Formats: sequence, structure tokens, C-alpha cells
Amino acid sequence: MTLGVGCPRCAAAVTATDDGWRCADHGAITPLWRPETADYVGFGEHVRRAGTMPTFVPWPLAPGWAVSDFGCVAAPDRDGRACFVTCSGPSDPDGVVELTVVSEEPGVGLGARCAGVLRTDPGAEIGDGPPHVKVRIDGHPIPLWSVLTSEADVDFDRSVFAGEAHGRWLWVVLRPASAALLLKDEWVLTDISGLGPELIDLPFGGTPPAW
Ligand SMILES: [Zn+2]
Repeated sequence: MTLGVGCPRCAAAVTATDDGWRCADHGAITPLWRPETADYVGFGEHVRRAGTMPTFVPWPLAPGWAVSDFGCVAAPDRDGRACFVTCSGPSDPDGVVELTVVSEEPGVGLGARCAGVLRTDPGAEIGDGPPHVKVRIDGHPIPLWSVLTSEADVDFDRSVFAGEAHGRWLWVVLRPASAALLLKDEWVLTDISGLGPELIDLPFGGTPPAW
């Protein structure tokens, strides 16, 4: 086993109990399984733990991009409740851009933690007016709305979009905030847990996200 356990919603230490895990701040939790350093072996364990929960990545990755972090929120022998992947790479004109995609059931709070917002789930902005950007999953356009971040950490430079895909929240977090312009091209997100042998080509590296 190469993945460590943590709380999906915060960086506090978790402790194992007879019936699961507890966060000092959030009580009983379904743990977040996350690698010390992102690599192929850890990703194999991630895919097993995630079960049917998809792990979305813009695929194929652009040249020079690599996966810097990933994780899933799952109880042992149960399907995952959330998955995320962070990848980063060069772009004009923003320099190094960091992208995190989160797919999660309502109430998990992992997307909100990545996004640096105070709420557990996206708010009333979802579905309010025309979408700000779209991504494409399985050939279908998924509308996403900009999530306001000014109520929370104003120094954390990021753009956050969220919407609904297959009955789950889909969050896209881009750093720096100006990198949101990259989304004007409709990105294709692929559940890479189903790629099979192509996964061998998945590049790992770069600095994991700060949260
Ligand atoms: Zn916590």
C-alpha cells in the first residue's frame, strides 16, 4: 500500500478507529487516499480504491504536462465518493499552469478544499444563467459556472468552475486565475482509470498543489 490517509476537507491529522477514521476537526470521515509522491504504482492503487468513481483528466495531456497529485475518497471495499487529479505544465502566456479536476458526491467537500471556498458544495451560481465554460465528457458537453471565491481566501490566486456530470459535482480549479482563458477551448475530460495499457504513458512529476 503506497497511499496515505487524510481528511478530504482539511490537512489535520486523522486517526484510525474501530469503524473507520476520524479527523480532529471533522469527526468521522471517509478518508482521502493520496500519495506522498505521485507515481504509477500509487496510481494503480488509486484506481482500485476509486472503484466506479471516475478520475477525469484532459487527455491526452499537452506536451510538457504531468500529473503532480491525485487521490480518492473511499472507504475500504466500497466505491469511491470523490476523485481528483492535479496536473501542471507550461502554457502561453501564463507560464506554469496548475489544473485540478474533482469529481465528487454532494457533501464530500474535497472540491471546496481544492478551490479554497468555505462551502462544502458549489452554490446557487450553478445553473444560474448561461454557463461560463464547457468541457466535454464521453462526447457530451458539460456546462460549468464560475464559482465565487471572494468570500474566502482572497490571496489564493485561482479560478474555479463547477457543474454537474453524471449526478456528481465536477470542479475545475486553475492556477493562476488568468489561466481560466485556457478553458475557452472546450476541453475533453477522460476518465483515465479506464484507459488500461495507455496509462503506461501517463507522465508523473511537478510540484503537488499547496492545499
Ligand atoms: Zn478534517
